[in-house]
Amino acid sequence: MLADLHMHSTASDGSLEPAELMRRAAASGIELVALTDHDCLDGQQVARDTAESLGMQWVSGVELSAQWQGHTLHILGYGFDPQSPGLVEAINRVQEGRWRRAEQIAQRLAGKNMPGALEGALEIQRSAGAELHSPPARPHFADWMVKAGHVRDRAEAFRKWLGAGKLGDIKQHWPELAEAIEPLRAAGGVAVMAHPWHYGFTRSRLRRLLRDFAEAGGRGIEVVNGKQPPEQVAYLAKLSIEFGFFASCGSDFHHPDSPWMALGKMTAMPDDCTPVWADPLFCR
Ligand code: AMP
Ligand code: MN
Ligand code: MN
Ligand code: MN
Repeated sequence: MLADLHMHSTASDGSLEPAELMRRAAASGIELVALTDHDCLDGQQVARDTAESLGMQWVSGVELSAQWQGHTLHILGYGFDPQSPGLVEAINRVQEGRWRRAEQIAQRLAGKNMPGALEGALEIQRSAGAELHSPPARPHFADWMVKAGHVRDRAEAFRKWLGAGKLGDIKQHWPELAEAIEPLRAAGGVAVMAHPWHYGFTRSRLRRLLRDFAEAGGRGIEVVNGKQPPEQVAYLAKLSIEFGFFASCGSDFHHPDSPWMALGKMTAMPDDCTPVWADPLFCR
């Protein structure tokens, strides 16, 4: 079965609206799909209606921001009730934190002779065509910085200003790992550690993270994220087996112009992993 369980729409930092995203997902042959916007459930209903009308199996999805030992982490959630009051409230709190963060990022950039970043990032977001209530994310700031001539491209914006440890990397608003997972579990969902390789941790730190994650109720890890090199996938597959985690796979699609994150075009999941859709909590 071709499953793509990680993708973004204009409800967070993707560039396609949820319905268009689902149409493209179906056209790429995906059979089981989840829309996993960052800290946002706004696209879920439209995604579901569109996905099911096109014959795909759909499961609720989200990518939650969290912190652990001072690092920002992403937790994928699946199969939860999107109307769960506890989860909706937790997500609303994170969205408020994201607004405060966006204001702080703009202030800090203004202090570096880059005024008008918040308005600029909002304009970038609006021009993506969505009816938005969500706060601008770092990629919107990055695109504004390019447009305003402060950097050459997005990569430079992250490298110099917005990436890990830089001025725009403000973490204090994210809930702690266990706190982020709790409302997801209460909503009947499965918590999966997103792209564990991408945090740049040593192997021993990664193991500590996975132990803490399991203890907090985490049930799976994302073994395949986009076109991840097969040796990384093999390592994550081994970890999933060792820890008894379910394994998930997704493209992490954001834009049609990023060929390394194309819908449904991920590295294959190793056969010896137990896919997350085998988890009884992963109800479609
Ligand atoms: P935020 O949710 O506002 O913290 O923004 C994080 C998002 O920025 C991620 O989900 C990616 O889509 C994007 N991102 C993170 N690091 C980079 C990078 N180095 N280059 C380009 N995009 C990035
Ligand atoms: Mn993103
Ligand atoms: Mn992520
Ligand atoms: Mn993602």
